[in-house]
Amino acid sequence: MYELKTTFEHYFPENFQGGECAAFAEGLIAIGLVGDTNETKLQAVTQRGILVKDLKQFIVGDCVVLKLGQAGHVAVVNSIVGDKLTLTESNWHLDKLVHHTRQISITEPDIVGVLRGILKVNVLNPVKTFKIKLVQNQKWPSIQQKIDECSQRLRVSSQNRLDFEVSISQTIFDVSKIPFIQEINSKIIDPNWYKENITPFGKGFDFIYFSFQDPSPFFLGSLGYTNDQSINPIECSGVVTSENEQVGSTTLPDINVFIETFLHEIFGHGLRLFTNQNDRRPDNTFLVHDYLNQTKFDLTGLLNLVDYSKLNPIGNNVKLTTSEDGKTFYIEGDKGKVGIADPASLELIQSITSEQSVTTDPNVLEVQTLSQGFVLNKK
Ligand SMILES: [Zn+2]
Repeated sequence: MYELKTTFEHYFPENFQGGECAAFAEGLIAIGLVGDTNETKLQAVTQRGILVKDLKQFIVGDCVVLKLGQAGHVAVVNSIVGDKLTLTESNWHLDKLVHHTRQISITEPDIVGVLRGILKVNVLNPVKTFKIKLVQNQKWPSIQQKIDECSQRLRVSSQNRLDFEVSISQTIFDVSKIPFIQEINSKIIDPNWYKENITPFGKGFDFIYFSFQDPSPFFLGSLGYTNDQSINPIECSGVVTSENEQVGSTTLPDINVFIETFLHEIFGHGLRLFTNQNDRRPDNTFLVHDYLNQTKFDLTGLLNLVDYSKLNPIGNNVKLTTSEDGKTFYIEGDKGKVGIADPASLELIQSITSEQSVTTDPNVLEVQTLSQGFVLNKK
């Protein structure tokens, strides 16, 4: 539901001298000493952690213990998308340097278990990290690089308030057999076909983006559309003629068509739908096109209009609740909840709020939502 990557990167930028893996992890999360062999680390997990066979689910902030070589390895989960953990870690390459981008599967066989503890750094203001399912109908060696560039542009244009994480599914549809219908100004994929063939990939994601390649002159180069009929996932698609197709004009530097269309459809039209902010004007033109089209690519201007209160992931009427066994605290709103499995990590919940002091007694807490998150106040 939330991520710690932005926070960890803030304190320990890429290639920071972090030292040994376990000592670095302990600087972020209070896990205590774990020793410097596989055996001592296994012992620590057995005694005060959760072995992988007993682990119900990973949470952000988990210190993952891996059985590797003689020494083993410890890394902190900074975000979770689908079945992938993204890790903040030091010394992975035996160079004592910090990295934040390596991903492992939750079923990675080297995982021994996790250690949980109190977060030792203050979390930065919540950043909304959208979950995007990208359905690619073609294999591109450069896809990760394109996604990274989109992410970079989004973060810069939103002053680090917005980010996204992508999970890719590969399809092999025969493009000539995809049915299209005529909309007012363009052709779009038949929504029934999209719902049947593409939408199922998007379960649990905020946006689904179907990218396919059609070298026929039918699309005159590029086209995308965002379907405003549905929500969760919001359906977007884009078609290109080739991996390296560029658009450009006198006022706009050359930009890759996939990147332009992806940002335009998702963080232009799609985000307006997500926040329920009007996109279409009475005369049927799109507000988004004032900011984000091929003659004036102004993602920053567009994102300045975002109503961030609508991105609060848990909604309003927020209260603090506890699970039946008393072991899990939640902050729960009308749209969802965030929870931390270990009561000692209540601090983690507190730290994703503002810096106001709170007690651990749920009865004396009052939660107030703000535009970029929520705070806990003493009653
Ligand atoms: Zn558009």
